[in-house]
Amino acid sequence: MKELIVATGNKGKLKEFRELLKGVVGTVLSPADLPGGLPEVEEDGATFEANAIKKALSAAVFTGKPVLADDSGLSVDYLDGRPGVYSARFAGEGASDADNNALLLRELEGVPTEKRTGAFHCVIALCQPDGSCQTFDGSLPGVILEAPRGEGGFGYDPLFLVPEYGQTFSELPMEIKNAISHRGRAMQMLKAALSGK
Ligand code: IMP
Repeated sequence: MKELIVATGNKGKLKEFRELLKGVVGTVLSPADLPGGLPEVEEDGATFEANAIKKALSAAVFTGKPVLADDSGLSVDYLDGRPGVYSARFAGEGASDADNNALLLRELEGVPTEKRTGAFHCVIALCQPDGSCQTFDGSLPGVILEAPRGEGGFGYDPLFLVPEYGQTFSELPMEIKNAISHRGRAMQMLKAALSGK
């Protein structure tokens, strides 16, 4: 593929996508590379897939080029899948990571370890200007701790224990997190599809 737009304003994600798509896509463009950028999209879908498709499809139709977009979040079993698609604004519009983590701990207060299971999910959508889309779905199960551990990462990372490693996403080295994470897994599937494997 010659040219692809990654519809994200998140510099960290953009960097990861550029790295991953080296040798598979000629030029990776971001909204900042487009005169006038991309139109705002309301992330009001009921699923990660619906939101990822909504973002990628509107940008593909608008620009006439293939576009990638992703949507991700944390689903906690005891909370019937919440915060889910509301992960970024669990504690309200404009909530900080600390606000969201504090609310998650409050909602799980007194819940025993064996019931504190959940998973991070990521769906990447690749849409074409003709309206066709492919999606790639990655997830990673884990346990929500009773107190944060570690300094790295972002979002719910300090509360998310990866049982196989005995460490939270905040404690794991970034290369390991990126290799095993929900986003990493979805990206590996995307790369396999783009390179025809
Ligand atoms: P979005 O996909 O950029 O809309 O992210 C949704 C929200 O999910 C983020 O703001 C975080 O709260 C949470 N989230 C998604 N991926 C991760 C992760 O790898 N670590 C921690 N939190 C995450």
